[in-house]
Amino acid sequence: MTHVAHIPERRARTVEWPKWTPTELRDALRARGVERPWTHQVAAAEAAHGGRHVVVATGTASGKSLAYQLPVLSRLLTDPRATALYLAPTKALGADQLRSVSDLDLAGVRAAAYDGDTPMADRDWVRAHARWVFTNPDMLHRGVLPAHGRWATFFRRLAYVVIDECHAYRGVFGSHVALLLRRLRRVARRYGADPVFVLASATVAEPARSASVLSGVDCVAVTEDGSPRGARTIALWEPPLLEDLAGENGAPVRRSAGAEAARILTDLVVEGARTLTFIRSRRGAELTALGARRHLSEVDSDLVERVAAYRGGYLPEERRALERALSDGRLLGVATTNALELGVDIAGLDAVVVAGYPGTLASFWQQAGRAGRAGDGALVVFVARDDPLDTYLVHHPSAILDRPVEATVLDPGNPYVLTPQLACAAAELPITSEELPTLGGAAAVEALDALTSDGVVRRRPAGWYWVAHDRPHSDVDIRGSGGEQVAVVEADTGRLLGTVDPASACASVHPGALYLHQGSSYVVDDLDLDNGLALVHAEDPEWTTVPRDLIDITVVRTLREERHAGVSVCLGEVDVTTQVTSYLRRLPSGRVLDQVPLDLPPQTLRTRAVWYTVSADLLHGSAPGGAGLVPARVPGALHAAEHAAIGLLPLFATCDRWDIGGVSTALHADTGEATVFVHDGHPGGAGFADRGFAALVPWLSATREAISSCECPAGCPSCVQSPKCGNGNEPLDKAGAVAVLDVVLRAIRADATATSA
Ligand SMILES: [Zn+2]
Ligand SMILES: [Zn+2]
Repeated sequence: MTHVAHIPERRARTVEWPKWTPTELRDALRARGVERPWTHQVAAAEAAHGGRHVVVATGTASGKSLAYQLPVLSRLLTDPRATALYLAPTKALGADQLRSVSDLDLAGVRAAAYDGDTPMADRDWVRAHARWVFTNPDMLHRGVLPAHGRWATFFRRLAYVVIDECHAYRGVFGSHVALLLRRLRRVARRYGADPVFVLASATVAEPARSASVLSGVDCVAVTEDGSPRGARTIALWEPPLLEDLAGENGAPVRRSAGAEAARILTDLVVEGARTLTFIRSRRGAELTALGARRHLSEVDSDLVERVAAYRGGYLPEERRALERALSDGRLLGVATTNALELGVDIAGLDAVVVAGYPGTLASFWQQAGRAGRAGDGALVVFVARDDPLDTYLVHHPSAILDRPVEATVLDPGNPYVLTPQLACAAAELPITSEELPTLGGAAAVEALDALTSDGVVRRRPAGWYWVAHDRPHSDVDIRGSGGEQVAVVEADTGRLLGTVDPASACASVHPGALYLHQGSSYVVDDLDLDNGLALVHAEDPEWTTVPRDLIDITVVRTLREERHAGVSVCLGEVDVTTQVTSYLRRLPSGRVLDQVPLDLPPQTLRTRAVWYTVSADLLHGSAPGGAGLVPARVPGALHAAEHAAIGLLPLFATCDRWDIGGVSTALHADTGEATVFVHDGHPGGAGFADRGFAALVPWLSATREAISSCECPAGCPSCVQSPKCGNGNEPLDKAGAVAVLDVVLRAIRADATATSA
């Protein structure tokens, strides 16, 4: 255990119901057990009722639903014509919220779902009669806006738009949703409506700014949480090094976070504590539950049945049964993915174990928030995985405990998002020049020019008109999974096992690759990139496969550049070309059986990157200010610095290390110097490289700190090794990386001091 912190209890603060609350609504809410609302619920409801766009950003289980139900239901009850729209990032959350509204059983509200599961026969009824429509961005994009004429009455009367769990809209998906909401507003305007937006979010930094960027309207924020919360103890935990096991290149390895979480879960269940354990992957959740059950069978066989797994992919009835069993104490321990993070009404547990940093502080606190009843203490344990970010966090508690939750990163100006979104907008209604400022300004003009020269829109005096035959909507992938998915199909049976995004297909389903699906393993026979198909057969070999690739990066355009003595820092557009050239077959012990060559085409990604260059003088110089590295050490030093920087960027940009990549080279053709690139993994970028550029000094300082404080002798997964290195984690020079980062940071700081002086 590396750190323990105590968070004191918070008492409830309640206020009277707003005067405008209809009696029948107040009675229905009282019957549900809400005697008096909490302060933040009323503050948000009052703003919305008064016509202000508002975001309520408070903790888990703080009753954010009531904050929007109050103004929306009041309006629907007092104005029999008004309508409202509710958007959730997942269908499951939308269904939960719809049930919560329907259970109030208020006459005339007519709340209904309109999503991919709504039967065709019911859809006409929803369009014609529903007054509160519960849907998701995917359906709004493909099913509602393209057919807005059929929704004319609904749009004409649209009073409120509710956007729940809006911190989920980040990166490429968030950028698409931001433009989707602008499309929604222009369609509503077309029918004479100007709805009030009510957003609900986990606690995030700058909620008003994030919500305004997302919605395109100025939002006020309500952040003073009036809900009660028990005192909590937060423990940070680093699994021990394994004595008799060595990893890649002989590196020391730690016990896995999932295995460690299973032990902690077991101990807590034995103590009778109701415990939720969050694991990153579905398979991990199943394995942790199994592990805990196995440990329990050795202690007290009665307890075995009181531990279960919970994850996405379960049927709604199964999920509800598990939720109930956990709430009433029949289940003591549950291992889950983040499926239990959003919306589900479970709180007041005795303990939460978070195995592996969930990617954002918002998620971390959302998960931790499941623990703690008013008046009762609770425990939160964060278990580090064996990677640089988690290791950094357990050794720098303030990075978790004292930092404001990150603002969401999204970039509606990304041309790879903006262009297809404007195509959809033009197909819905011609785009006029007065609309351009709200649709991206100069970037929108550029995108419309591109669409015009493609012949799909035409410029007329009144605006840009969609003239192509087919509507563009079905080709626009708002989840940003990167175009047409590659289907993974079992050759014998024709069964579709899953899909892989095309950018990673060569690395994950190349011929010979081991493919895991729900605990079963398959081996890939053939990858047909043209038709988006990977054929596999069931096989459970003793080896796993590891792809090897060659990566090349070229600078297309430098957008920002900061020069310092011997160091420059840039942000720009790059082309990243990746070619998977071979794969290794490796035994669990780490021993490599063989290396098999592959003949796959190179793939190019146009995206954004942040990079820094270091002059030869600074790298080799042994004089003060130089890194003193002999030339042979430079590639390993840069490579190690690159890996660790990728590992730590998620601390500053709301991304996953899998969303970004990197390239380092001792001499780059475009920069003419030693260069380390960190790039976005999505076409056009998702704003992550931009965040890295903006937060360069704290980011590289944390990177340096993570490497230098790692206790391993020469590099391990906790500092400079990367699980996705296409080069087998070679060469890596841990001490060299610290030397490089020191000279880079010194050069930048020297200038900063000079400027401020
Ligand atoms: Zn290490
Ligand atoms: Zn690497």
